[in-house]
Amino acid sequence: MNDSKKRKHQETREDDVIWEDFGELARRYPEFRQAYSKLQHKSISAGQTPEFQVALTRALIHSRFNLTLPSLPLDRLSPPVPNRWSYVRWISQKLLPMLQSQNSYFATTATPCHRGMDIGTGASAIYPLLMIRDSPHFSMVATEIDPVSAESALTNVRANDLSQQIQILHVRPTRVQEGLETSDPPMNGTVDTFRSGGPIACAMEKLVSASSVPRFDFVMTNPPFFDKEEALAPRADDRERSAMTECEGMYPGGEEGFIMDMIRDSLVWRENIGWYTAMCGKKASFVRLKTILTHLLGPGHLQTMEFGPGHMTRWFLAWTFHRPCIRSPVVVGKQDPFAVSTDGLSPDAAILNVVDRICVYCKSSPGGWKLTAQVSFMRTGGMRVEIRESNPQMRTATHVDDSASLPDRLSIGLEHNWDARSFMPEEGHFLIDATVEKSASVFPWTVMVGLKFFRHSSRGMQAVETIRAQIQGEISRTNRRWRRILKRQAEASATENDAAMQE
Ligand code: SAH
Repeated sequence: MNDSKKRKHQETREDDVIWEDFGELARRYPEFRQAYSKLQHKSISAGQTPEFQVALTRALIHSRFNLTLPSLPLDRLSPPVPNRWSYVRWISQKLLPMLQSQNSYFATTATPCHRGMDIGTGASAIYPLLMIRDSPHFSMVATEIDPVSAESALTNVRANDLSQQIQILHVRPTRVQEGLETSDPPMNGTVDTFRSGGPIACAMEKLVSASSVPRFDFVMTNPPFFDKEEALAPRADDRERSAMTECEGMYPGGEEGFIMDMIRDSLVWRENIGWYTAMCGKKASFVRLKTILTHLLGPGHLQTMEFGPGHMTRWFLAWTFHRPCIRSPVVVGKQDPFAVSTDGLSPDAAILNVVDRICVYCKSSPGGWKLTAQVSFMRTGGMRVEIRESNPQMRTATHVDDSASLPDRLSIGLEHNWDARSFMPEEGHFLIDATVEKSASVFPWTVMVGLKFFRHSSRGMQAVETIRAQIQGEISRTNRRWRRILKRQAEASATENDAAMQE
């Protein structure tokens, strides 16, 4: 083997995500032992046959989760367990607690008893099964258009005695899968009345009854990855694609088209579902979808996660319409604490003096921004100043990021009825957290100022950039200048008080 071939061979082996000791699995599971022995000296990724994948999925899911998958047809996708499990954990450990702590959406539920939907559960029903293993009190609706996969999923759910918690729902294909236009034009010009016709809508329409509209805490999906031509083309690395049927692998517009149709659905069903989430197999579609969602809702409504690295890297995207706290999850900038000297003042007076400087800076309307500074004490003995816009509702762009534009597939039905303000965090377009604390040095006293910048919209970003460029210089002026500014300000407010008393 020449050097470059040898290196490639090693890289492939290192790339393989080995999550469990295969030797140990082979010892315990005869089906896996047989498939594993056929691999001989090939790398795992090069030697993956449908038989191997099925045996591996079965062995892993039993050894790790005590689940059985009696029905895994060889011509259907056999799911790799590690990335599926990490998706499930991300939802249960990160996304759901986030809505719960920041939002009134779940406030009435004392013990979280979440309900989720898996779109396109496949022949395995892997996501609902793993979800219930992770959180036994959850319940799931799992949709599928392929009758063979739906039947197989049902067999697996029954085999694990989970029919009470997992409902398999056979749904009709989406409008674009049926070759129809993406949507009907909006009726009465309102977003709520246009038929979005995507994969969530098909499920919701089936679940709506005369007396109730269903609510879900989250939706998850591993969408068909490819557009038709892509699926038929050979892979760049010449490996064979995993076994999959046309509806498993293909969708008009590939995974991007599928998730875009979910975004359209989410605009209609926005109040009924807490988190909309999806897995992407290609970084380019993940990046494009993230840009679209940021443009539509603002970065505070998004969460992302990457699983990998290696040839199995996957990107996960989540969005919510529930009003987020601007501090989570996006920090657009942080400044390492810098020292401000306040000679001659005691530590407490020095902290107050620097807080005063920040307030005076805010009152000066930097860059034309009208700012308020809200001061509070911290438990550590320092003080915090929250800087925000005095009237965040004053000017709102139609969308959050003016620079981007929406693809047609999404914009139909939105133009007339899109009020970006309803998705704005309570804090407004931006927020700056300043912490003012005593430095560790004993003498001379210096005060340390730390800054964190958060933004919701491109308008907020402009404010953040202006203030970030100025604030350190402005509050670190020489002490003499500050004494003069503060004195002038005290005189001005005394004159104002006098005038008020005379009136
Ligand atoms: N969730 C499984 C299967 C993913 S493959 C896993 O992670 O392994 C994608 C699945 O979506 C296929 O089973 C396909 O039949 C199904 N599917 C495609 N279009 C759909 C639609 N409009 N509604 C529901 N399921 C759909």
